[in-house]
Order: sequence, then C-alpha cells, then structure tokens
Amino acid sequence: MNIILLGPPGAGKGTQASRLVERRNMVQLSTGDMLRAEKNAGTPLGERIKAVMDAGELVPDEIVDTLIDKELAGLAPDRGVIFDGYPRTLVQAQSLDRLLAARGRTLDVVIELEVDEDALVDRISGRFSCAVCNTPYHDRYKMPVVPGVCDVCGATEFKRRADDNAEAVRTRMAEYRAKTAPILPHYEAQNIVRRVDGMAPMDEVSAAIEAILDQS
Ligand code: ADP
Ligand code: ZN
Repeated sequence: MNIILLGPPGAGKGTQASRLVERRNMVQLSTGDMLRAEKNAGTPLGERIKAVMDAGELVPDEIVDTLIDKELAGLAPDRGVIFDGYPRTLVQAQSLDRLLAARGRTLDVVIELEVDEDALVDRISGRFSCAVCNTPYHDRYKMPVVPGVCDVCGATEFKRRADDNAEAVRTRMAEYRAKTAPILPHYEAQNIVRRVDGMAPMDEVSAAIEAILDQS
C-alpha cells in the first residue's frame, strides 16, 4: 500500500506517519527529514538548500524528486510507503506518478488532514523532538513524562527546527496554500482523496486514518 499524507505545516503528518510505521510494516519517506539531514550534514546540497528551507520556502522540485527516487530504489517492491511532505507541487505530483509507475507501484490513498490555520501557528511554535529517535514533543501539549528524558528511547538531547519561528511559519502556510493545496484536484480526479479532521486528538486522528487504510 502506498499513501500520501497531505496537509499544511503542523497538521500532524509526521506524528501520524511515525505511528503508521510502528503499527503497519510501512516506510515513512519524509522529504523534510531528508533535506534536514542534508542540511545538518553540511553536504553541498545541504549548503544550497539551507537558506531556502530556513525561510520556509520550497526547495526546487528536481532536488526532492531525486531524493525520493533514491529512497524508492532501495525498498523491497512489496514494502508499503507513506509519503510525508511530498509531493508539494503539481510538478512533484506528476513526477511521483512516473516514479511509482516505473517501480510497479500504485497510489492507494491520499489522506488530507484538515486543520485550522490559526491553531497551527500555536502548535508549531512550541514543538521540539528527540535528537536521537525524533519522537515529537510540545511545550504545552506533549512534554516527556519524565522531564528532559525521551519517553521512547531515554535520550536527554532534544532539538528544535530552524524554521519553526513565526515568520517562516507564515511563509510555509502561504507556500502550502499557493502550491500544495492545488494538487488535490489531481488526486480527486482519481477518486483517492480521503479527509480526516486534523484538529481532533492525536489518537482519534490515528484511528480515523487506520479505518481509511482498512477500507482501501
Ligand atoms: P512542514 O510540513 O512541517 O513545514 P517539512 O519537514 O515537511 O515541514 O518541510 C520542511 C521544509 O523542507 C519545507 O518548508 C521546505 O523548505 C522543505 N521541503 C520539504 N519537502 C519538500 C518538498 N516536497 N518540496 C519542496 N520543499 C520541501
Ligand atoms: Zn528518543
């Protein structure tokens, strides 16, 4: 099964994707995570994209298309994939159609997380994650049970993203509205879009997604 999680920044795509990875034997392909890894490793690509990412703008389509194809190449053909943060433009959606077809994969469902944009700014501005296992946390909504210690792996180092500040968040929202939301009709034409209330508690969002996948 191959699925896309779609929704504006802070909608909870990453959280839901990591839950699906745990519950089903699927692989999460997050272009945001891949790009941050390049950035932090200081590779030539990372140097090139740092300013773009930190400002909240989109990196060029060819770059993310290439990263995704490289990941797909290394996967067993029967391994299910969750695309998280990709595709983000119509050009990327068209590339993904080609990349999947070339590997004999089909897209089963596109899940759109519907959210209230004002609430997102509040969510994003308090979030951080485990530096070791990437489990997401939030200053106000989901602190580690033991202060300073990751619930999942016990690590004591945490990190915050450079683009989780008010200005970059506003740019990310604008990019989503202008470039990403317009890809929905592409998938609606294939009748594979399902909508989930992303403002519901995380467990309810997960349950709604599981129910959709069970029916797909
Ligand atoms: P979020 O959806 O919470 O903003 P991501 O981790 O998915 O965060 O993406 C962070 C940043 O990485 C984006 O703002 C953009 O600069 C870049 N990026 C990630 N995925 C893509 C993509 N598919 N196309 C272009 N840029 C991307
Ligand atoms: Zn951890």
